[in-house]
Amino acid sequence: MDLLLRAPALSTAEAVDLARRIYGIDATASPLPSERDQNFLLQTRVVDRFVLKIANSAEARALLDAQNCALAHVARRSSLSPRLVPALDGSLLTEVTVGSGARHYVRLLTWIDGEPLATRHPLSPVMLEQLGEKVGELDAALEGFDHPAIHRDFYWDLAGGFALVRDLAPGIQDESLRTLVMRLATAIEARDGERLAHLRRAPAHNDPNDYNVIVAEAIAGILDFGDIVYTYAIADLAISIAYAVLDAPDPVAAATAAVRGYHRLRPVDDDEIGVLFGLVVLRLCMSAAIAAKQQPERPDDPYLAVSQEPIARTLPALAALDRDTVDAALRAARGRTAEETLEARRRVIGPNVSISYQHPLKVVRGWMQHLYDQSGRRYLDAFNNVPHVGHSHPRVVRAAIEQMLVLNTNTRYLHDGLAQFGERLIATLPEPLRVCYFLSSGSEANELALRLARAHTRRRDVIVLDHAYHGNTTTLIDISPHKFNGPGGDGALPWVHVLPQPDTYRGEYKRDDPRAGEKYAEHARHVRSPGAFIAETAPSVGGQIILPDRYLSSVYAIVRGAGGVCIADEVQTAYGRMGTHFYAFEAHGVVPDIVVLGKPIGNGFPLGAVITTREIAASFDNGMEFFSTFGGSTVSCAVGIAVLDVVEQERLQEHARDVGDALLARLRALPDAHPIVGDVRGSGLFIGVELVKNRETLEPATAEANDVKNRLRERGILIGTDGPFDNVLKIRPPMPFTLEDADLLARELDAALS
Ligand code: PMP
Repeated sequence: MDLLLRAPALSTAEAVDLARRIYGIDATASPLPSERDQNFLLQTRVVDRFVLKIANSAEARALLDAQNCALAHVARRSSLSPRLVPALDGSLLTEVTVGSGARHYVRLLTWIDGEPLATRHPLSPVMLEQLGEKVGELDAALEGFDHPAIHRDFYWDLAGGFALVRDLAPGIQDESLRTLVMRLATAIEARDGERLAHLRRAPAHNDPNDYNVIVAEAIAGILDFGDIVYTYAIADLAISIAYAVLDAPDPVAAATAAVRGYHRLRPVDDDEIGVLFGLVVLRLCMSAAIAAKQQPERPDDPYLAVSQEPIARTLPALAALDRDTVDAALRAARGRTAEETLEARRRVIGPNVSISYQHPLKVVRGWMQHLYDQSGRRYLDAFNNVPHVGHSHPRVVRAAIEQMLVLNTNTRYLHDGLAQFGERLIATLPEPLRVCYFLSSGSEANELALRLARAHTRRRDVIVLDHAYHGNTTTLIDISPHKFNGPGGDGALPWVHVLPQPDTYRGEYKRDDPRAGEKYAEHARHVRSPGAFIAETAPSVGGQIILPDRYLSSVYAIVRGAGGVCIADEVQTAYGRMGTHFYAFEAHGVVPDIVVLGKPIGNGFPLGAVITTREIAASFDNGMEFFSTFGGSTVSCAVGIAVLDVVEQERLQEHARDVGDALLARLRALPDAHPIVGDVRGSGLFIGVELVKNRETLEPATAEANDVKNRLRERGILIGTDGPFDNVLKIRPPMPFTLEDADLLARELDAALS
């Protein structure tokens, strides 16, 4: 603590001179505050700004070296800390002798624009949560760092806090504050001492107080690694909270918000949460005790006194809180564990609402082709097709928010969004598909498609493909063999006609049969008066099936010949996923009478659409109004247009083709090494890998497929399984999926199969 007496005292002119001599920077200098070093803001004539740091002459070189290494370590993982600027000779630490004869180490750092968080008091809940998040980001970035010099005895180390308070608190002038500080420290030690002894340790910045946290529009940086020490892993969280609660109207709410933010980036364990509040109070006690010693040594330094009045005002309020209540609130701020979430869900959600994976995944955020769990672990999402242009795509999110802020109404009012979305959709489709209806889900869209077909043909009978799934309503279950022939199903109704799935790997006609498409289509002739034929253009629930050439054209001809209309369920396949075309039906040289869209068109916002011909729309216009409360709402149209914008401007169809081709090529090498891989099929980013126990009998490897899926989940990659035997690995990622992601997936799948 003698450091204070040996703080550097350079003049501004000396700082200007150092900047020029050592760094070749021509700048003006103005002093910045510091406890025991000396800092200058350097401003060049261009807009560059730097911080010149002159270290205390008693500071060990090894510690300055440790700070530099920590700065470099953090800089590789986060943009929160300033960066070191090398001297003209390339060094990051330069020893100088100043006019007084004293020797000092100097460093130059980049300037972070903004003002100290202290100027924003009282901190809003949003700012507090962000503070926690940024401190968590810093600690996460520090992880893995080490240096001998940070294993040190340091008076600001919380781990030595009780001894320090015993030593120095008697020097606190104000009697009631002195008594309170000593009483609080004793009580915390009695309560938490045992647990603290075993607490997780890590390198800590150790001083994210609100003068070291810089805010511009948001928190932009955390400065000053001078107090770095190897200590409790939650030291930084405790210290940031200690300063954030000063004069806070509701200190518990403030601490809770910070924990919430921190925990997302760096999970806080049970022991840590139990001692956190004690450490918050201990830090303030330490500050009061240290100030009692320092202030008489440098009575005119405002920096040393800056926290003392707020501490004297706040400590009594913190002392009055019930620790058990505070701990419970902090514990709750971490959110539920995955197990607790599962239990809570089981209590209130229907039991057949299923959950993926043996160890269910609790995700807290998504970004493009990645999902993140509570611990911050990143998963490559190779499964979810709903976030078509990427999880949380900012363009789509912004479109929703901006429209929601202004107006969200229904189709009974005039608004340009509705017609614009319709025009944009129709521009992606061939003639004569020229009339749109908007709904809120794929199921609603398929329901409407059936109503349109029935209104137009005045017939009830529907032809479907085996194993198909078209939605969750009563009628759609009736036309979904995957459901009515599956567990809990009641079998086919008389008006539902099931055609064999044109599966050229497992079905009756194989890939080596050039007429397989026509032969599968022939089955449609057995239906006498079909109202509608409905099929996914690439059956997904059916097992990621690619329909054989001339299948659709042949079936459409037969169905139309018999007076029926043809519905393409493109809920899974639209918007460029197949790579070669915007819609899957285009690859088959057909134009459906009705096209059904869902999932990807809203990128997660509930959106469905039906596009049909003028003739069919006219038949449906029979006097009965069609209305959907949310379908075609102002916000959903804004979202729909934004999604189309992104698909087009980011050229996602071409991207899906390129990445899909590369991924398929990698996957097609798997069967050589893995006899269990029976078939690899797909187009663009719509891919299936079928696992079999025997390549002759095609006996499905169902348990193995499930095992591979779960192993990949443990390895950080999400896929699914599907098909009549649930033995097809289903790969259907958000479209921003990259070549590197494809490589990773192929490599990890190879490893999981091995
Ligand atoms: N059609 C197909 C092909 C689907 O895959 C789904 C959903 N899995 C639906 C329709 C129903 O869509 P939604 O769940 O949005 O009602």
